[in-house]
Amino acid sequence: MSIPQTSQPHIALFPSAGMGHLTPFLRLASVLLSHDCKLTLITASPTVSVAESSHISSFLCQNPQVNHLEFHVPPTEYSHTISDDPFFIQFEATSRSSHLIHPLLASLTPPLSAIFADLVVASGVGKVTVDLGVHNYIVSTTSLKFLSLMAYLPILTTSDAAKLADGTAEIEIPEVTPLPVSSIPPPFFNADHGFTATLVSNVKALPYCNGILVNTFESFEPETLSAIKNKRALSNLPQILPIGPLETYELNINQARYLPWLNHQPVESVVLLSFGSRTAMSKDQIRELRDGLERSGYRFLWVLKTKKVDKDENEQDLVEILGGSFLERTKNKGMVLKEWVNQQDILGNSAIGGFVSHCGWNSVMEAARNGVPVLAWPQHGDQRTNAEVVEKAGVGIWDRTWGWGNQGLVKEDEIQRKINELMEDGKLKIRAKMVGEEARKATGNGGSSKSSIIETIASWK
Ligand code: UDP
Ligand code: UDP
Ligand code: UDP
Repeated sequence: MSIPQTSQPHIALFPSAGMGHLTPFLRLASVLLSHDCKLTLITASPTVSVAESSHISSFLCQNPQVNHLEFHVPPTEYSHTISDDPFFIQFEATSRSSHLIHPLLASLTPPLSAIFADLVVASGVGKVTVDLGVHNYIVSTTSLKFLSLMAYLPILTTSDAAKLADGTAEIEIPEVTPLPVSSIPPPFFNADHGFTATLVSNVKALPYCNGILVNTFESFEPETLSAIKNKRALSNLPQILPIGPLETYELNINQARYLPWLNHQPVESVVLLSFGSRTAMSKDQIRELRDGLERSGYRFLWVLKTKKVDKDENEQDLVEILGGSFLERTKNKGMVLKEWVNQQDILGNSAIGGFVSHCGWNSVMEAARNGVPVLAWPQHGDQRTNAEVVEKAGVGIWDRTWGWGNQGLVKEDEIQRKINELMEDGKLKIRAKMVGEEARKATGNGGSSKSSIIETIASWK
């Protein structure tokens, strides 16, 4: 294949649906701009959430030199039969039609040097890059450990199916630390589940790409990284390039109303509770959390979501769900926010002493970067695997018995106990700060993550 030899590399970025996917791509875009790359951002249209469309607009407004292509995802007649999750419907539809970006990319000038795409479009984009003769990288938006599990899915869903059905065994991805079956997302037990089938078809394209850029860093997942690097595990994978924790870019959003309050709180006195951009707990679980949080006695900033997709949220819910008396009693103690907050910034505020998180991978990387201790409360998907990593890396604690988000209620006394542990464990605080140091080293000059990016760009010249 002939690779264009231009002095300024031109990279197309193709994220998938949801803020958890868009965010690391925009952060990576910002890093690439600082290395003088020309960029084309491809986004599926229409987006599922308002947060996605407003972040895309704001990013483009701040970086007008970035070329934007909207990819109109063809509607599926049977989408409602696939899932009731609009993000997953978009994953599936984008995955299935991703090869259609061919004409959009073929006409770009200067010609592309590389495409950086989401895993769920790996198969379609793989075909396009072969045709266009451009480098092809996948950007992994989850932990390296969960990526390994996904890469292992073609084997897991065939030869290991019996072990999965057994329900108790550990899954041993050769040379990657064993994973308890209880941490494997339930859809993976069924090879015909839409989510599993979409992933299987795409991970089969991984061996053909030039590399996988992973939002992690060497000292955070050293064992998994070394097993893959030294070809002891998943030897068909291309080079793994840890590039995290991806740095935040300047967000052009309104002055946050919680900042004046947060800025007045004592150092490390506030617990942040946030479960990402697309996880709404049940009303019963929200009430248990409310009571556990109040009983813990800690100051708090609680980002509350009651709907999976932001445009479905409505304003009255707060009093209706939490009760006026809770809000009144705690009005000097904390804030409940039902809006988009700048989580990365909040985690960087010295008032934050702990983070109750669902362990979406971006949230984990943000906590790591800021050295903030995490109480892992994984809900679905990759989050239990991510919680394993959080605990092992020393940045957080986790009660495995809490189960998946849809498996029964976690009671207020358990929540209170864990929040107190999070905020009072001195050794955890020290370890989390050390993780923060390592994270900053990795992305600083000469650090392993920064070098991965520079070397990748340089390798095309
Ligand atoms: N986020 C934010 N404000 C919010 C909710 C989420 O800034 O009100 C950010 C969060 O910091 C993270 C991303 O949105 O960067 C969510 O990604 P993550 O992987 O943590 O979880 P997901 O939303 O995919 O479950
Ligand atoms: N593939 C690719 N580049 C290639 C050959 C294959 O990206 O040069 C992708 C292809 O799009 C497919 C995946 O790799 O999605 C697996 O291809 P393979 O022929 O190995 O398996 P099959 O599709 O027969 O399961
Ligand atoms: N999901 C995801 N990432 C994953 C696994 C699941 O985003 O790694 C999404 C997917 O859209 C799925 C939903 O989360 O439909 C609920 O996942 P769960 O594990 O609860 O599976 P299900 O309810 O479909 O059995």
